[in-house]
Amino acid sequence: MVKVSPLRVTPLLPGTNCGECGEETCMAFAVKLLDHVYEIADCKPLMKEKKYAKKLKKLKDLITAPIRPIKVGVGDRAITIGGEEVLYRHELTFYSPSAIILAAPDNNEAVLEERAKFVKDWNVYRIGETLTLQGLAIRAVSNDPATFAKAVKKTLAIANIPLVLCSTNPAVLKAGAQAAKGKNPLLYAATKDNWQQIAQIAMQNDCGVVAFSTDLNELVSLATSMAGAGLEKIAVDPGLMPTDGHLADSLDRFMMLRKAAIRKDNKSAGWPIISVLATAYIGKSSGMSEAERIETAFCEGELGITFIGRSTNMVIVQTADSWLLLGLMVLRQAVYSDPRVHPSVDAKLYELGTPDENSPVFVTTNYTMTYFAVKDDLEALKLNGWLLLVDSEGICVESAVAGGQIKAEHVAEAIKESGLENKVKHKVVIIPGLAARLSGELEGLANWKVLVGPRDSGDIGPFMETKWDGKLEQLMKEWQEMQD
Ligand code: SF4
Repeated sequence: MVKVSPLRVTPLLPGTNCGECGEETCMAFAVKLLDHVYEIADCKPLMKEKKYAKKLKKLKDLITAPIRPIKVGVGDRAITIGGEEVLYRHELTFYSPSAIILAAPDNNEAVLEERAKFVKDWNVYRIGETLTLQGLAIRAVSNDPATFAKAVKKTLAIANIPLVLCSTNPAVLKAGAQAAKGKNPLLYAATKDNWQQIAQIAMQNDCGVVAFSTDLNELVSLATSMAGAGLEKIAVDPGLMPTDGHLADSLDRFMMLRKAAIRKDNKSAGWPIISVLATAYIGKSSGMSEAERIETAFCEGELGITFIGRSTNMVIVQTADSWLLLGLMVLRQAVYSDPRVHPSVDAKLYELGTPDENSPVFVTTNYTMTYFAVKDDLEALKLNGWLLLVDSEGICVESAVAGGQIKAEHVAEAIKESGLENKVKHKVVIIPGLAARLSGELEGLANWKVLVGPRDSGDIGPFMETKWDGKLEQLMKEWQEMQD
């Protein structure tokens, strides 16, 4: 996709600089719109006023990504899937992390309830981000409209989360869509046999639809037909068969769709892709042994690595084990980090707990993972202290020292600028073991006693016991000797 300039976007905005979007000018909005900070809908005058209808259409045509973005769900938990402009992350960045959706049957209330609560509440905090599941895929195992509608209502009573309603029976999907009216679910799936009915149900109830076929021509034709009928929220599933010989075909179909949309600008192929990892359970009996269940979950995890690694837009998983979900989420976090930006936090002085004038001073770099690892390890020790982050351009300690992004003079300058001299009455600073080579020069430049800490912040506890606790007076004597 050719990069669009803000100069082409600005004339397609109202041009009144009204500020309703939060920006002072339409030009500023245009810049952030192209950077995915805003959506077109954030310019309310453009959306509401009829006189801008032509501009709105032109703007949509100009900037809509090759993989169209679609929203699922409403409120705080609503998600966007798609919106990607490149095939590989290093070509720009990916914008909408793969949604991880947990499957649940409609005919087992206890399991449904347990899974809805799990999606609502389960989360893990990791390097500055709260990792969660995005929604629930309710499978119409009963094939009964009333049972399905009841399951949808029960889920929504537990949590206002994005839903994928799964059946190929139009009567069942209609009941589910009506039960979820106003909640913007996805209907899964439209096939060559039912697509007209499903598209009609979707339009009547304002839902999105997933088209399914393992025949790519048929799949594209289905999506195009539904778009022609007026549907805007469409996703596609080209089929994921994990059995011998079929996985490679599944991956080929996935990549052919992606390449057609992004490399060949084939608008008929440019829809978000859904990968159903739960197909790992096809052919497995409900009474499988624990060993067999773990083996199947492991297989599901491998499928997740394969497809999330290729930035599929949504996966549906059957396994609710934390070890598997956490692995997929950590991978997702890596795939969707922006390669243009070194992951860094503000280089400044941070307080740990309630530090005072006798508290230890730790120094490290402002690489995000370093900061959170050190902070978490220190907080786990319930340690009150000062943590000074030196600007390493978002690079970890070892690489920054080797590459020259962190030199003794940078650390000395950071100590001076932080105002630490007014916050502590000692002159001792603890640097990471991986920056040991800076210690001598740093002592001379900063005129602080430098203690070389452990190479791994996980070892700070024993280090503090042997090198710090009860030793501040001795350390200050050593600092005094440096002056003589
Ligand atoms: S809301 Fe729209 S018209 Fe108003 S400043 Fe923002 S972009 Fe311009």
